[in-house]
Amino acid sequence: DRTGEIELAVDGLVKRFGGITAVDGASFEVESGSITGLIGPNGAGKSTTFHCITGIHQPDEGTVAFQGQDITGIAPYECADYGLVRTFQIAREMANMTVLENLMLPAKHQQGEALWRSVMPLARREVEAQERDLLERVWDTLEFFEIEHIAEEKAGNLSGGQRKLLEMARALMTEPEMLLLDEPFAGVNPTLERKLLEHIHELRAEGYTFLIVEHDMDLIMEHCEHVIVMHQGSVLAEGVPGQVTSNEQVIEAYLGG
Ligand code: ADP
Ligand code: MG
Repeated sequence: DRTGEIELAVDGLVKRFGGITAVDGASFEVESGSITGLIGPNGAGKSTTFHCITGIHQPDEGTVAFQGQDITGIAPYECADYGLVRTFQIAREMANMTVLENLMLPAKHQQGEALWRSVMPLARREVEAQERDLLERVWDTLEFFEIEHIAEEKAGNLSGGQRKLLEMARALMTEPEMLLLDEPFAGVNPTLERKLLEHIHELRAEGYTFLIVEHDMDLIMEHCEHVIVMHQGSVLAEGVPGQVTSNEQVIEAYLGG
């Protein structure tokens, strides 16, 4: 149990795009087993920070450590091996696959890697046993998110909210310890939003760590125990929700845009 330890540490992160400094020396820590919110006005550098953490972008400066291990500049596919995942939107190629197939894929990828690494080829019945285990895990995940009824539905036909559930379900299939969610409630109706939040709290109770980028400040304040505010590429303020909402600089950053 890592509760209370530092799960993720970002230190002095800088990311430039030509003349634009999207992330400008951001430093923060996320406690293991917490739901931490990352907020800030549009263009503050939140998504770029996520991309630097998960290897989509190479940071120009700074370090990222996960569970005490330096993962700066890691390749995106390596992240899952460490237990760190971000949700990503269902790509066009995956829209034609069913929900079930979408969930099989990330785990298959990992299994494939494990097979690749193993020296001995697996006996056929071992492969079959693995397939059975995987299918069981897929169904457990479908049940957890209460989406068994859409298992055979094409991902492209889902509502915005159902798609968000699938994105999170898919992230969980890689058996992560920490999830990075970038605006997970965008385009989600209030009923599904509540469900999504319930699932996040349940998973947290199981020991998962969450870092959530979200626009809706009230929502973050209600559901996160720790809030980090970014502005112009760096951390402007952080603390428990009450501290952050009463911070003059934060109020100004939001009102001033
Ligand atoms: P946020 O997620 O907080 O809204 P972003 O991280 O998306 O902010 O963007 C921060 C700044 O970096 C913005 O000015 C944005 O236009 C710029 N930016 C982000 N990604 C790129 C990119 N790939 N190329 C050029 N500029 C980018
Ligand atoms: Mg963003």
